[in-house]
Amino acid sequence: MLEGLAQAEAAVADCLDASAWALAEDDLVTALDAAHRLEQRLAAVKLSLVREVDGRGTATAQGASSTAVWLRDRLRLGVGAARRLVELAAMLDAAPAAVRDALADGVVDVEQVRVIAGTVETVRTAARADAADKAVGVLVDWAAQFDATLLRRLGTRILDHVAPEVADAAAEAALRADESRAARDRHVTISEQSDGRLRLTGILDAEAAAVLRTAIDPLSALTGPDDTRTAGQRRHDALADVCRLALRGGELPDHGGDPTQLVVTTSYDGLTRELGAGALDTGLQLTPETVRRLACDAAILPTVLGGAGQPLDVGRQRRLITGPLRRALVLRDRGCAFPGCDRPPRWCDAHHIKHWADGGDTSLTNAVLLCGHHHRHVHRSDWAVRLGGDGHPEFIPPAWLDPDQLPRRNQYHRRT
Ligand SMILES: [Zn+2]
Ligand SMILES: [Zn+2]
Repeated sequence: MLEGLAQAEAAVADCLDASAWALAEDDLVTALDAAHRLEQRLAAVKLSLVREVDGRGTATAQGASSTAVWLRDRLRLGVGAARRLVELAAMLDAAPAAVRDALADGVVDVEQVRVIAGTVETVRTAARADAADKAVGVLVDWAAQFDATLLRRLGTRILDHVAPEVADAAAEAALRADESRAARDRHVTISEQSDGRLRLTGILDAEAAAVLRTAIDPLSALTGPDDTRTAGQRRHDALADVCRLALRGGELPDHGGDPTQLVVTTSYDGLTRELGAGALDTGLQLTPETVRRLACDAAILPTVLGGAGQPLDVGRQRRLITGPLRRALVLRDRGCAFPGCDRPPRWCDAHHIKHWADGGDTSLTNAVLLCGHHHRHVHRSDWAVRLGGDGHPEFIPPAWLDPDQLPRRNQYHRRT
């Protein structure tokens, strides 16, 4: 073996010395085919050596925790490449001889042989051994025409060719396997950034994905011509809206006896004079504008601190727009009252026209329904809101948008 490899190495070195530019076109292509074939045959040799190293336990004898770890060090491979090498070596070892031969003869490449060995293994568990042998023949034939990716796709229906009597049952089993893989791989990772934001990544299974889409897709639509948010920003806001709705519903499990709530701490001065910041109970600092908006919302309990840092009871009943008052508000506004918005009431906060911290009362004449997006918009921008002569809300655009500042109304909910 060592001698043979030494000779091969010498032969390869000769090829490196020869000049490719001197080859005639036909010879050039033939040489390329030969080099590719040789590469696969050499891979077969390497895999058989890896298998032997693994079988003997050479790696553990030399103090490594596994053959893959040892290979990583020895051949300076990436950890994934090392693991795949060990897996493929074991897979080939267990595969019918014809699979190994195909690689050794250089008629299939390493990626194709990986697919073939895996597919044959599946056939062997789903059908009889002779079907597996038949599958090898079919797959090796296909490998002459198709690359590994296509081969994998064709391989999913291989039973139609080699064991049609079990094909349907196997397809069903494969589907079940897919499903349990999806169940195993499902996860959501929430990583906290240093500034209080979260990075959200993950894979939802098909069912949770459908639920999420159903919940946020309608909320991710543009709210009107003034909506300049990107699709990503709209999805983000929709997700937050859905969570807010869940909190408002009060059906979430309790947190140590208290209803699940966001707690905002701020000083009374901060709230009234729009100075200073507030904080969430996670310690996250908020701008005064955000604190005032959150304090508008019935789902959120602000803990307002007096001058000495003592909680100042401003009266929960006086502050929250709930129960009959909210129902009256829903009857009047029928949804987000901002001009052009079609959001129904369940997505809406009750906004205090004159903030309760500024002495505004909690009554129908001081409240207006706004969806999450427009609630943020009203607190952040220069739009003003008031009740018109007929008791319905109207919005006054900022002067830069409309120099005449003509009041606008939501026509959407009126029409319906
Ligand atoms: Zn508000
Ligand atoms: Zn709205």
